Amino acid sequence: MDMNMMAERIALIRNDLAAASEGRYPVPELIAVTKTHTAEEILPLEQLGIKVIGENRVQELMGKIDALEGRFGIHLIGRLQRNKVRYIAGRVDMIQSVDSAELAEEISRRCAALGRVMPVLVEVSPAGEKQKGGVPFSETRPLLETIRRFEGIRVEGLMAVMPQTDDEALLDRLFGETRTLFEHIRDEAPEGVAMRELSMGMSGDYMIAARHGATMVRVGSAVFGPRN
Ligand SMILES: *Cc1c(COP(=O)(O)O)cnc(C)c1O
Repeated sequence: MDMNMMAERIALIRNDLAAASEGRYPVPELIAVTKTHTAEEILPLEQLGIKVIGENRVQELMGKIDALEGRFGIHLIGRLQRNKVRYIAGRVDMIQSVDSAELAEEISRRCAALGRVMPVLVEVSPAGEKQKGGVPFSETRPLLETIRRFEGIRVEGLMAVMPQTDDEALLDRLFGETRTLFEHIRDEAPEGVAMRELSMGMSGDYMIAARHGATMVRVGSAVFGPRN
């Protein structure tokens, strides 16, 4: 992994993000998605100003978390099975992929037992793709209503994964709709729910996400570069 190349790519992404948010929104936090990369490849990101990393599989994360803990904030961003929650309850800084009351309950139970409160995002599915995880927009408020009083979690916002597509008009619409849902819930201010983070945008579409007021973008391949 070439450190200079990585520094250049990160500088370009940061430039893009600043240009796309255009003073209309704060520049989103660049979360480096480090799945498939080793701790040795990930550690240099600290010198390049990366504060938070995202991992999408518990088992893979557990293999490298000892080397990463304390150096980065660690966010779980992928689909999470209930029986894996116990491994990460004491070790990650945010779980971005909460999409059911059962999962929220298990996270809450495990974290409460450790005397901690886990920041979580509710994952929504803007295109309604059931197989990918995430709740449809119409089920977001009912889910929040169920989980907002759970003592071991604190809802801090929404996360979204867009469909795999090059259709920029479609993505523009879906990011816009996600931002609107986020703002509406924020304005309704349900007790026990903070809408301060909106995690959306990946390597292929982070600029569109930034234009629509993402507060975090999750970028993997554009940080690490093409595979050889
Ligand atoms: C892999 C992944 C990303 C990053 O994808 P890239 O296209 O490599 O930027 C973002 N979010 C989630 C949930 C992921 O699994």
